[in-house]
Amino acid sequence: MTSMGADRTGKRTGRSDLRAIFAVVLLTSVFPVDLVPGSSHDLRGTAGQFSGKQGQVLVVTVPAKGPDPEVSGRFLGRRIPFFQDRSGYVGLLGIDMQDAPGTHELAVEVTGPDGPHHLSYNVLVIKEKYPVQHLTLPKDKVDLDEESLLRVKSEQEQVKSMLEAESKQRLWEGRFIEPVSGAVSGAFGRVRVINGQSRNPHNGEDIAAPLGAEVVAMNDGIARLTVDHFFSGKGVFLDHGQGLYSMYFHLSEIAVEDGATVKRGQVIGRVGASGRATGPHLHWGVRLNGARVNPYALTRLSLDGLAASR
Ligand SMILES: [Zn+2]
Repeated sequence: MTSMGADRTGKRTGRSDLRAIFAVVLLTSVFPVDLVPGSSHDLRGTAGQFSGKQGQVLVVTVPAKGPDPEVSGRFLGRRIPFFQDRSGYVGLLGIDMQDAPGTHELAVEVTGPDGPHHLSYNVLVIKEKYPVQHLTLPKDKVDLDEESLLRVKSEQEQVKSMLEAESKQRLWEGRFIEPVSGAVSGAFGRVRVINGQSRNPHNGEDIAAPLGAEVVAMNDGIARLTVDHFFSGKGVFLDHGQGLYSMYFHLSEIAVEDGATVKRGQVIGRVGASGRATGPHLHWGVRLNGARVNPYALTRLSLDGLAASR
């Protein structure tokens, strides 16, 4: 979703800028961390440490054996679900774009036949440097009239309640793909200061693509909600299960119906400039257990051999 004001992608990133972005992206990508191996008997007190930048995703593998233990984590008040895999129990931990830098605890509870075991891991959140844009605009371009304000509020409520509903079943499988190819703006986390007032940070990536270009699902899931909203225009929200959602905004056309099952790579809509957008592009956003993460953190994950079963 975009903050107040137009989603300006008119200014395209130059080639050298793009190279800089990719270099940064490579440096900031997070490597999956395998934690200390062990059996369910020596888990108590096992500790590990790993780190990632704001907006990134960590793959956490917890060694747990025995018949169907329940594994669940908590990080900064957010629940982190785990699923069974060959190497143990795997959870995707999203670091929100605005999680406070510093060390925080990931507390994991493994409940087996012999009762719950508690594991504690340190997660170092590293500050990401986001672009800041100062704009001065005429007041009437910034302030919404009463009617639009009410509309935006109810749209926000609609999205909020949908994102809070967590489907237990994991629906995604294997690697994640980019929904459309094009120039990536690098605007994830960008803060706009309009007439001296900070707006909500830009919580996705903008991909410039021709009007009508096909937009595909990043992974398997369910089309939980299709909308035509004031800021984000025509949009699709995909529910990939276990608290993972992806969203696709400013579409010219929506190609799925609410509740439809979608497969990775399936066309869900077409690139447009609906809502507040100055030109055709796709706004692609991802929520992971309530954290706003960079969607490209998912496409860069090394999930080889992972998530083969569900
Ligand atoms: Zn955007």
